[in-house]
Amino acid sequence: MTNTLLVLGSANADLVVEVGRRPAGGETVLGGDTVVLPGGKGANTAVAAARVGASVALVGAVGGDGYGSLLRESLESSGVDTSLVKTSSRPTGIAYITVTPDGENSIVVSPGANADVASSDVDALSFDGAQVLTCSLEVPLETVIHAIDVASKAGVRTVLNLSPVAELPASTLAQLDTLIVNEHEAAELVSDWRHLLRLGPKTAIVTLGSRGVAVVVPAGVTEVPGIKVDEVVDTTGAGDAFAGAFSARLAEGDRVVVAAEYAVKVAALSVTKAGAQPSYPTAAEVSSLAA
Ligand code: ATP
Repeated sequence: MTNTLLVLGSANADLVVEVGRRPAGGETVLGGDTVVLPGGKGANTAVAAARVGASVALVGAVGGDGYGSLLRESLESSGVDTSLVKTSSRPTGIAYITVTPDGENSIVVSPGANADVASSDVDALSFDGAQVLTCSLEVPLETVIHAIDVASKAGVRTVLNLSPVAELPASTLAQLDTLIVNEHEAAELVSDWRHLLRLGPKTAIVTLGSRGVAVVVPAGVTEVPGIKVDEVVDTTGAGDAFAGAFSARLAEGDRVVVAAEYAVKVAALSVTKAGAQPSYPTAAEVSSLAA
C-alpha cells in the first residue's frame, strides 16, 4: 500500500436538469437537457485530494454500467487509485438533481452500489503506509463506524465529514481526530459549535461558507477567514473540496490549522468554476492564488 490517504465514501452520477418549476405530485413538467456529472461525496473528496497531489485511494463501489465507467474515468484521470472501488451487482448510485431558476436544487439520491460498501471491504484493506482515513456518510453507517475503529486502532488518523448528519456512537466520535461539519450540520449536533469537542473528537472544523472555517481545538477556536473570489459560479461540492484538500495536507504531516488554511484556498477556487469535481484546482493553481 503506497497511498497515504484513504477516502471511504460514495460515488454517484449526478443527473442535472433545469426546470421552470418543480412538479407537484402527479404532475409532469418539461425540463432542459440532462447534464451528467461525476459526483458523490467520497469521489469528490478523493478527486479534490488527488488534484492537490495526494496519493489517495477511494474505497467505494459502483455498478457495472456506463455511469460506473464515467466515475472510474473521472477518478483515474485525476490520479485517484480506484483499485479499492469494487463493481457491485447493483446499479451505480445516482443523484437526480432538478434546478429551478432561483438556483435552488431538489435532489433524490438512489444509493445503488454505494449501499454495498461493507465492513468486509474494510477488513480486506491494508492500512500499511496510510496516514489518514477520511469518511463521509452516503455509504452504510455501520461500515463507516467499523472503518474508523479499525483505522484508529492501526494508528491511522481519522477524519469524518459528517454529511449528511447521522447519529454515531460516542465511542466512534471519541476515535476521531477531526470531525468536519458545516454550520447547519453543527447546529443539529450541538447548540453551540464551540462545544463540538464535548462529543469526543480531538479537533473539529466548522465550515462557514464564504466566511471560511472555524477550527476547534482543546485550547480554543482559530478562525480561518474565507478567500474572497471575483465571481461565485457554483458552490456545489465546496465542502468536499475542503475535506479532500484538508485530508491531503494532513496526510503530508501538516498541523490541523495549517491544513485548514490550505483547504480554504482550494475550496474558494472550487466555487469559481461549474460543477464539483471539474472545479477542483491543482496544487499549482493553489500556489498561484497564494502568490
Ligand atoms: P456544499 O454542500 O456546497 O459542498 P458545505 O455546506 O458542505 O458545501 P460550505 O461551508 O458552504 O460547505 O463551504 C465549504 C468551504 O468552501 C467554506 O468553508 C469555504 O472555505 C469555501 N467556500 C464556500 N463558499 C464560498 C464562497 N462564496 N467564497 C469563498 N469560499 C467559499
